[in-house]
Amino acid sequence: MRALELVGFDGPASLQLADRPLPDPAEGEVRVRFHNMALNHLDVFITHGLPKRPLPAILGSDGAGVVDVVGAGVTNVKPGDEVVLYPIVSCGHCPACHAGQEVHCPEMAILGEHTDGTFQEQLVVPAGICHPRPAHLSFEDTAALPLAWLTAWRLLFTRGKLRSGDWLVLVGIGGGVATACLLLGHAHGLKVIATSRDAGKRQRALDLGASAAFPSEGFSKSVQQATDGAGARAVVDTVGPATFDESIRSLAREGVLLTVGATSGPKLELLLPRMWFRHLSLVTSTMGNHSEFRSMLDDVNQFKLRPPVDRVFPLADGGEAFAHLEAGEQFGKVVLSA
Ligand SMILES: [Zn+2]
Repeated sequence: MRALELVGFDGPASLQLADRPLPDPAEGEVRVRFHNMALNHLDVFITHGLPKRPLPAILGSDGAGVVDVVGAGVTNVKPGDEVVLYPIVSCGHCPACHAGQEVHCPEMAILGEHTDGTFQEQLVVPAGICHPRPAHLSFEDTAALPLAWLTAWRLLFTRGKLRSGDWLVLVGIGGGVATACLLLGHAHGLKVIATSRDAGKRQRALDLGASAAFPSEGFSKSVQQATDGAGARAVVDTVGPATFDESIRSLAREGVLLTVGATSGPKLELLLPRMWFRHLSLVTSTMGNHSEFRSMLDDVNQFKLRPPVDRVFPLADGGEAFAHLEAGEQFGKVVLSA
């Protein structure tokens, strides 16, 4: 079985194709044969040792494929079923797991971050994380869903508590989470404003349902104009220090700044009076619970949503795929084919 192995922490150059023995499922587990897998920024960060994992390691949180073999006691899927994986494995017996709050399980592991992930032809996983894939999507589209769309769903609806009619600003449209927020937000009746330096990406955002799309430079003024001076109910900022000030200036009174990633760096300076005089909230999130994954899939099925896929690379060209994501020029997900 072919696998894309990380053998060092020098970025995409540390990835190479390797041969691994075919794993067998134990009780309660299944082996999935992947058609497609998708990259997340998390995978790129790990190639630089942020965080470090024992090597060689197989990265990848997102995968869609066919159930190949099932272990004893598995009843929710059978060989031949086409599935997509909830990208989180939790202990299943702690108070957080019992409460359906897998993100707070002390033993929570993201596929590919703490355990070997999806960037291989076949992987053994707990049967419980397998879900039927949306019938209207290809395997390539399906593989683009798990981590980014789960993160977007929890961020907007559980953590952000956004509702139909709210103005939502997406800073730097193009990445997986931002494009998922655009499609999910639009489906739920939010009025979405996208920002990008790239005119082509702004046009793509409008084509996907954004109410407006503005250049990145000083975007808060455009947001204030578009909302008749009221500002936006929420801003999703996945960029961090480079855009945070403009994001805060875009918010309405009692608005919510939603942060879920920081591609421009992890530390920032916050002018607190600007926050408290306008009663703003800073709300964080990452990933999501199993129930939120089901809700996300329900939305994708109900609204016939299709995640934008930027490019598909063969598994053997995985290093090239990582370099492409790292360059940041993509719109939608970067996908691998097994
Ligand atoms: Zn647990």
